[in-house]
Amino acid sequence: MKRMTTAICIGISFFSLVGEPKENKLIVLDRKAYVQSVQKNPNKELINLEKKIPAIVLDIKYATEDNFTGKKIYNKAKAYARKPVAEALGKAQNEFLKLGYSIQIYDAYRPYRATVTFYEIVKDTRYVASPKTGSRHNKGCAIDLTLVDTKTKRELKMPTKYDSFEKAAWAEAPVSDPIVKKNREILIQVLSQYGFRVNKTEWWHFDFLDCVGFEVLDIPFEGLED
Ligand SMILES: [Zn+2]
Repeated sequence: MKRMTTAICIGISFFSLVGEPKENKLIVLDRKAYVQSVQKNPNKELINLEKKIPAIVLDIKYATEDNFTGKKIYNKAKAYARKPVAEALGKAQNEFLKLGYSIQIYDAYRPYRATVTFYEIVKDTRYVASPKTGSRHNKGCAIDLTLVDTKTKRELKMPTKYDSFEKAAWAEAPVSDPIVKKNREILIQVLSQYGFRVNKTEWWHFDFLDCVGFEVLDIPFEGLED
């Protein structure tokens, strides 16, 4: 009950507008409620991936104007994920490093307010998460990423750019270039060995499967430990 009192219930007016039943109201934790949840369950901690994972590269598109909104959504270029997600990603990174590659993160934990902003821009849940449910990014359980060559520091060729809405971005879309096909295969295969599943329509989006009990969070990066 304590958590209920400190959580923000976002969307009360939104849900009353669309007539959702009361029990479906999304619970979104603010910083204070998040800190309390971590005290009860240390696995809920959001880990700074740049500090935890050796050689990881950040290219946080929403901290720039180079994203599908054309607007800077984040004030800082940071990447966080829940502890078990960060640990699994670290193991995948070790595999990639052996192959001469490194993970490059486009986006990881995403504050709930960013999901609301995306919805206000696109207004289509085929392309962006619904504010009614939030997304796994809001729970610190999903990562958008690609691979870079550790020697050249260049991104590996993949089927499309990040956040492309094209059919070619689908994880199983046909690819004529054998190098691109191989790159996408390596990305998906290695991550799947460590508990991640690729999104059907986005080759760069990976959900961590063991995500039960992680709440939607609305804490900007400025409110998290560095
Ligand atoms: Zn994603």
